[in-house]
Amino acid sequence: MTTKARTEYEVVVGVEVHVQLKTRSKMFCACPRDYYNAEPNTHVCPVCLGAPGVLPVINREAVHFTILAGLAMGCEIPAESKFDRKNYPYPDLMKGYQISQYDRPLCVGGALEIEGDDGPKTVRLERIHLEEDTARLLHRDDGAEPYSLIDVNRSGVPLMELVTKPDMRSGHETAAFLRTLRQLLRYLEISDADMEKGSFRFDVNLSLRPRGTQPLGTKVELKNMNSFRSAQRGVEFEVQRQSAILESGGRILLETRGFVDATGETASQRSKEEAHDYRYFPEPDLPPLRIPAEEVAALRERLPELPDAKRARFEREYGLPHDEAALLAETRARAGAFEEAVRAAGDPKRARAVAHWLIGDVARHLNALGADAELADTRVTPAHIGELARLVEERTVTASSAKEVLDAAFESGEMPAAIVEARGLRIVSDAGAIDEVARRVIEANPKAVDDYRGGKESAIKFLVGQVMREMRGRADPNGATEALRSHLEAGR
Ligand code: ZN
Ligand code: MN
Repeated sequence: MTTKARTEYEVVVGVEVHVQLKTRSKMFCACPRDYYNAEPNTHVCPVCLGAPGVLPVINREAVHFTILAGLAMGCEIPAESKFDRKNYPYPDLMKGYQISQYDRPLCVGGALEIEGDDGPKTVRLERIHLEEDTARLLHRDDGAEPYSLIDVNRSGVPLMELVTKPDMRSGHETAAFLRTLRQLLRYLEISDADMEKGSFRFDVNLSLRPRGTQPLGTKVELKNMNSFRSAQRGVEFEVQRQSAILESGGRILLETRGFVDATGETASQRSKEEAHDYRYFPEPDLPPLRIPAEEVAALRERLPELPDAKRARFEREYGLPHDEAALLAETRARAGAFEEAVRAAGDPKRARAVAHWLIGDVARHLNALGADAELADTRVTPAHIGELARLVEERTVTASSAKEVLDAAFESGEMPAAIVEARGLRIVSDAGAIDEVARRVIEANPKAVDDYRGGKESAIKFLVGQVMREMRGRADPNGATEALRSHLEAGR
């Protein structure tokens, strides 16, 4: 990207996100919704197969989940909404049309706060509506000729579609919006929002305009991005490609482009001039959907504490710095484990220590298990963490022994106090024993002793480390420091 292009053009980005909702049954029939571990074509009935003459029934849970998402983002929930048919022929669309919502969606407006390029930023939403997913096509090339298989299990899975206003101004902001949205959906427990499983899919619409001007440039739609990182790279590549065209006096084509992960580039898929006319019309088999105000009020009561509010409360209640509070509030499970561990530690003052265990050594164990691993996936419970923080604070074990205790707890699931006893890790605060080791360490390290006596205070840290090493991490560090200091001063 040339510096000139970077300063002269501004990118304007909006996104469309499709989210599979974690309901029990499908959108318009009683088939089980969860198909991830099911044999293909086992969650199927005449409705989701699109047999003629069958009637759809609206899934109340899917409507509620969508309204919950809308309320969490401050959308207006109109008293009446309706479903429409979106017509287009494709092999994965069993009926030849998708039941969707055209001009009267369930949720209107709203916004999501994100961490933008220049600090906190509001990304406004256009709408959120409800529709049904299509069947899944599996393209194979393992025979004489390529062929395709169809899995109808996904047909009719509730799909929530969210459309933003064009409020993002960079690839980074686009990725930040998507991350924040996924976090919120997971907090609400209405979707797995898992990109790999296809339960969180997005398209990015973007255009360039000369900086400082209002009218939007020609829109390009980006598809095929399967990670937040690829969304960011896709936008950045388009800024580069389009500004080069505009620089040289060229014209941007209205088109759909696919992101290619391997190269980080985008490639034209189809020109929008040949876009379908979906011939939307009201779904004749479904009456308009009326949502009484009391129902909306009851759903509002169901909203959990949301990520930002939780993070702010963690800062306030436990005196945690912003970044630590944000890390702990990142998932509802982690936040819950934190507060449970603080209770188990027996004193809210130990919250900071509990936070450090969770963010540090516990996170290291969880990362080894996988990106989305939570404490609940291991043999360690919040009670373990609370007890460990208490043992360190009460000086039953040293910080370095505590790490060994934690590792052992991940192995066996045993409680920290029991591990301390079984392994003989109780702190040694016997002044005589420490004094003996301190004397030996001083004799063996004349250089550090000279440094200390010459005024280099920090040399004592090295000597404390040597005492700890001799005592296999079990020496009370304060006792060791005191013993060393008295010998060093005496010998001046
Ligand atoms: Zn069905
Ligand atoms: Mn859609």
